[in-house]
Amino acid sequence: MISFENTKIAFANKSNHELRRANLLFRLIGNSVLTKIGTRLTTLALAMKLPIKGLIRATVYDHFCGGEDILDCESRIQALAKFNIKTILDYSVEGKQDESDFDLCLGKAVSSIERAKLDQNVPFCVIKLTGLIPFDLLEKVSAKSTLSEEESMKFLKGRNRVDIIAQNAFNAEIPLMIDAEESWIQEAIDEIAHLMMTRYNLERPIVYNTAQMYRHDRFLYIQNLYKQAEEGDFYVGLKIVRGAYMEKERARAQKKGYNSPIQPTKAATDVDYDKAIRFCVEKINRISICAGTHNEKSSLLLTEIMKENQILENDQRIYFSQLLGMSDHISYNLSKVNFNVAKYVPYGPVIEVMPYLIRRAEENTSVAGQTSRELSLIQKELNRRKV
Ligand SMILES: Cc1cc2nc3c(=O)[nH]c(=O)nc-3n(C[C@H](O)[C@H](O)[C@H](O)COP(=O)(O)OP(=O)(O)OC[C@H]3O[C@@H](n4cnc5c(N)ncnc54)[C@H](O)[C@@H]3O)c2cc1C
Repeated sequence: MISFENTKIAFANKSNHELRRANLLFRLIGNSVLTKIGTRLTTLALAMKLPIKGLIRATVYDHFCGGEDILDCESRIQALAKFNIKTILDYSVEGKQDESDFDLCLGKAVSSIERAKLDQNVPFCVIKLTGLIPFDLLEKVSAKSTLSEEESMKFLKGRNRVDIIAQNAFNAEIPLMIDAEESWIQEAIDEIAHLMMTRYNLERPIVYNTAQMYRHDRFLYIQNLYKQAEEGDFYVGLKIVRGAYMEKERARAQKKGYNSPIQPTKAATDVDYDKAIRFCVEKINRISICAGTHNEKSSLLLTEIMKENQILENDQRIYFSQLLGMSDHISYNLSKVNFNVAKYVPYGPVIEVMPYLIRRAEENTSVAGQTSRELSLIQKELNRRKV
């Protein structure tokens, strides 16, 4: 059985200096008061155009991001590849709403496909539909509201951007993952993902949608998608995650007075997550998956389900994925024994990826147990190295 306890393997890529820096970083962001103050001060300093880019770069940015552009990420790609870990380049600029920003994002996605074509170290590309289509239109389409003529044109233009990327991915044979976002825009995202699957997944899974198992309706969604794929004879690609917007989801549901789409408890989310990976692996001839998780139990369970189903560790239909700078003990211990592992490597200008970095800081503060887990592993390795 695999153990995620081996910190020598988990941190083999980290120098003593990097490990000490990670120790300090996780101690800081583990403190919710410091994280709140730090987040506010950083946002303020940026708004006042104070020169704090260097500080952000030397701390959170270098830990969680690959660089400002794809070329910048090359040293990370190579460093991960040495340990049999692949890279998923994630252009992490968020919250933009201009057509020019959407076109820029389209260009970045196409460039990441071009990079992926060069070697095996970049096996997927990934997009967020809010980077390509206006948020309010995704919301309207999800709510089945009628769009004005101008809105319809804009929506179709956005959907066409997705199509261009998917077509490029198809031609390059590089799978394309579509991130999941807030539930009130997810219906439109699911419809587009479904359309792209029917277009580009006829021979192999190229387009992957994402299922957030913190939603109580997602297991049913996966079952239905499987049925549709059987009937329509297309392949399904699925990234399976727990979901990143829980507090926002619950707050909105309460404010607007509808039933929350989120599971009642963490345990219920965990049950559905594990059910989903089992279901998909049992349908592996139709569904390929990427398990995007930092959860040790689910990662371990997936290795066991693969074994039960006599699926080889490096079968291309199953990937494990973690975010850069997090849960190296899972990534490195899995890759060591030949499972397919890919790190999400976010990139983009320092200032522009701040929302992503703030989310990482908040996540490591608020998710029970997670920071202490990261920290205790880092400290265990520092002790082992006696530094
Ligand atoms: C490679 C990768 C890609 C990702 N892509 C996406 C994406 O496209 N969209 C997206 O939304 N997220 C995405 N995420 C983030 C992911 O959804 C989770 O927020 C994060 O990974 C933490 O969940 P976990 O499985 O690692 O483990 P855990 O730490 O075991 O679980 C924490 C998660 O459990 C759920 N949870 C916690 N408390 C409760 C509760 N009281 N009731 C119900 N559920 C609860 C929440 O989803 C929380 O994030 C991605 C993560 C990774 C690693």
